[in-house]
Amino acid sequence: MTERLFAITGLTGFIAAHAAAQLLARGDRVRGAVRSLAKAEGNARLMSLPGAADRLEIIEADLLTEGSYGKAVAGVETVFHMASPYSLEYKDAQRDLVDPAMKGTLNVLAACARSPSVKRVVLTSSMAAVTDEPDGRVLTEADWNTRSSLTRNPYYFSKSEGERAAWAFMEREKPGFDLVVINPFLVIGPSLTPGLNTSNQIIVEALTGVFPAIMQLNWGMVDVRDVALAHILAADNPAAKGRYLCAAENISMRQLIDILTPLAKPGDKLPTRAIDFWLGSFIGRFFAFTQPPGAASYMRTHLGRRVNFDTGKIQREIGLRYRDVRQTIAETVADLREWKHLP
Ligand code: NDP
Repeated sequence: MTERLFAITGLTGFIAAHAAAQLLARGDRVRGAVRSLAKAEGNARLMSLPGAADRLEIIEADLLTEGSYGKAVAGVETVFHMASPYSLEYKDAQRDLVDPAMKGTLNVLAACARSPSVKRVVLTSSMAAVTDEPDGRVLTEADWNTRSSLTRNPYYFSKSEGERAAWAFMEREKPGFDLVVINPFLVIGPSLTPGLNTSNQIIVEALTGVFPAIMQLNWGMVDVRDVALAHILAADNPAAKGRYLCAAENISMRQLIDILTPLAKPGDKLPTRAIDFWLGSFIGRFFAFTQPPGAASYMRTHLGRRVNFDTGKIQREIGLRYRDVRQTIAETVADLREWKHLP
């Protein structure tokens, strides 16, 4: 296969850095758009990825600045739009989460529409655009989050508004590229960037006594390297179409604690009390009112509810095979210790 040029927005991000690493490893060229050149260049691990010296280029761009991504996508065939704020905490949900997700996505798509070289955009959406409050039903690509708002799970709202805006843009503008969307659930794994990602933070919190008890929570977990690969498979396969849910396995907090127990070191503080039954969840939803708004909203909508999903489409159509998330959790713990996010 001849060398291809990919653009990745938000190259300094957890998933984006892995996507860049995999593309560089197979000989492709990568142009990363970042909001701070200094931050990207200060990341030695990113800058010294095999192939980076001659095939990684970095360009500054900001989601909220119109026209900002023109240079980033010029001459590029495939764009991975991954930049979007990922945080349960915020000061102003509209300004800090929804605007960058929605206006940012439109800015990137508009830049791609102006660049005739662009043939496909792979957008990193989220399961947050699929559901806001799992109700036990098996979720598929046909499901949409219709319940989040600026006050209820605003990060979820930002992702669903961002993805809706992208599909509406495609319908309205009929640009010269097609759009494929990846909807990952909770992405964990070793990091190529020094910051602690919001999803890996759950593992840090489980090991450092932040969780007061084992709660009736569960997550569809997936390895960050699989999510990065999903984008590449979606880019490579001309028949890829629509949305793709991306999650390996449902892991409950109790299972997570069981997996973490043999990995814990002296001084780690795993929760020992258990409230993972209906009364515990009922009480937990009241306790949620004492939490910051993002965490409170999440607890009220997720405690006691199981996330079920069918991710057959991504396996059937683009051939993604998942790693074992138990192994991923073990590798994540080792990596979190290496980055000093854990003692
Ligand atoms: P990170 O927080 O690691 O990365 C987010 C990236 O977005 C960073 O590069 C960040 O830049 C960039 N960004 C944020 N705001 C702006 C802005 N105003 N202008 C330009 N860039 C900006 O998150 P992840 O890697 O986890 O997330 C990547 C994508 O995947 C996001 O779209 C997220 O919603 C989605 N996702 C993540 C999941 C997860 O569990 N991690 C699950 C499902 C979806 P900077 O480094 O400068 O802050």
